[in-house]
Amino acid sequence: MKLWENNVRKVVPYVPGEQPDQPHMIKLNTNENPYPPAPGVMENLYTFDTDTLRLYPDPSSKILIDALAEHYKIDAEQIFVGVGSDDVLAMAFLTFFNSLKPILFPDITYSFYDVWAQMLHIPYKPVPLDDDFRIRREDYYEENGGVIFPNPNAPTGELESLEDIEDILCHNQDVIVIIDEAYIDFGGKSALPLLNKYENLLIVQTFSKSRSLAGMRIGHAFGSRELIRYLNDVKYSFNSYTMNHLALALGTAAVEDDAYFRETIHKIVTTRERMKEEFRSLGFVFGDSMSNFLFVTHPDFPAAQLFEALKQENIYVRYFNKPRIDNYLRITIGTDDEMDALLEFLHNYIKR
Ligand code: PMP
Repeated sequence: MKLWENNVRKVVPYVPGEQPDQPHMIKLNTNENPYPPAPGVMENLYTFDTDTLRLYPDPSSKILIDALAEHYKIDAEQIFVGVGSDDVLAMAFLTFFNSLKPILFPDITYSFYDVWAQMLHIPYKPVPLDDDFRIRREDYYEENGGVIFPNPNAPTGELESLEDIEDILCHNQDVIVIIDEAYIDFGGKSALPLLNKYENLLIVQTFSKSRSLAGMRIGHAFGSRELIRYLNDVKYSFNSYTMNHLALALGTAAVEDDAYFRETIHKIVTTRERMKEEFRSLGFVFGDSMSNFLFVTHPDFPAAQLFEALKQENIYVRYFNKPRIDNYLRITIGTDDEMDALLEFLHNYIKR
């Protein structure tokens, strides 16, 4: 062992879903949107003035924040943006979770949370979901250093009611509570109306799913002016220029096209509801996902084998070899054609 290794910050990194590049693949493994970004995004791309790239971008990301402020009818001082919601969440962990008491999050949840906690030496305590993969609000009444969970949760897709969220906030007014709303646009009720009531609430959202911009890396947070100020202080102590010129221009165009946003979500939700019926008739068991994916298990076919069989067919879904969920598959809702190809394979596999 070399002595300098004692000084290295050693981490077990997060493992993102595979990004295969196969011809004719059906990619349902990382919850991307199967439809293109809004037409205005393309127009902005074609007319983008590359001369601006000589210059640093606006560190305050004003055009994007103003567009979000206008769209959500929220004060610009209550909005923070980052390089995908992963960046926003990492900044939030760094800024808000600084207690010796453990932060609380569900045992089955976004698997980046424990990675950030470990990297930043934040004590944490996973709180078991109930047998239906639901959050029990009473479990979050104990003393803690902060609370975070996605709503709807990932990878389960389970949506908790605003009443439950408010109850958890009510019992946790001395710490920061972060609601990760990466999938909220697919049928959930955002906690945004609670923002004025709870100055310790931070809501994090992303352009990666409902706005078809996973590749552009844009995420945002809503919070009280104080929380956003604290987040900015940390951001400016780390990297002032998080958002590049192109991300600012294209993100703004995406927010401005509300009609396209609604239409795309409607298509995905319609396909999701059809898939629930189809999967049920194939004997799969799953909760009532309110996100752009289903989290399914089958009593007769082990998920790990099904995952491999699908991969052989160039159909990529997500499998987590983790306690409690190692017999489940998370399947992103794709286009109707993609889902029909998946169903055809499953019919043959199951009826063999
Ligand atoms: N939160 C949750 C619950 C997610 O599933 C994801 C997607 N991996 C993210 C945050 C991060 O998404 P992004 O960085 O693309 O905004």
